[in-house]
Amino acid sequence: MNLADATTVDSAVTGPGATRVKLTEIFLSIQGEADSVGWPTVFVRLTGCPLRCQYCDTAYAFYGGEWSSLDDVLAKVAAFETKHVCVTGGEPLAQKGCFPLLQKLCDAGYRVSLETSGAIDVSNVDPRVVRVVDVKTPGSGEVERNRYENLEVLRPEEQVKFVLCSRADFEWARDFIRERRLYERCMVLFSPSYGQVDGRDLAQWVLDERLPVRLQIQLHKVLWGDTPGK
Ligand code: SF4
Repeated sequence: MNLADATTVDSAVTGPGATRVKLTEIFLSIQGEADSVGWPTVFVRLTGCPLRCQYCDTAYAFYGGEWSSLDDVLAKVAAFETKHVCVTGGEPLAQKGCFPLLQKLCDAGYRVSLETSGAIDVSNVDPRVVRVVDVKTPGSGEVERNRYENLEVLRPEEQVKFVLCSRADFEWARDFIRERRLYERCMVLFSPSYGQVDGRDLAQWVLDERLPVRLQIQLHKVLWGDTPGK
């Protein structure tokens, strides 16, 4: 499959009546990132992503996957008997079926979070979902894909995440959040790109600058390394 195929994974399932999603995996793990870090969480990983960040650790979700009805996904999630659910990818919002899936998960009473690249409009996501929206840095290789309008619609409990690949990325992100006073709108997360920035260096940079951001170390990688399905 080429890149164009990956970006149009949803072409057969469009509109509010979408009843299925293309699924890479569903698994139970510890939430390793964002405000809900540490909670046992069911991860629903949808297939496909239109971006190609150089540090991507879920490239195995770009292709393949299996179509599943939304009810099937709900049944698989229920089997884990866990309150927290994270819908992720890939880029889950590249599939129109993601929107009704999020709604159904909320209707079923789960605490639902969504991890999204920031390249797709998040304004139509069910308001009960906590959106965790990336801002891609220059070091990601995908900075031009940022849809900055997304930042305008975030609520205080929602989160913007920067994965930083270098000191230059840190300075870019620092200036970005200061110019927009982003930390007054929502929670800002800074995370070192695994293997590219030392977490201790990033911690020191944040402290030196007195930045009102939360440092994130990917807990699941501390526990299990860079292992798919963890
Ligand atoms: S947006 Fe996420 S899934 Fe897509 S390439 Fe970037 S890191 Fe990987």
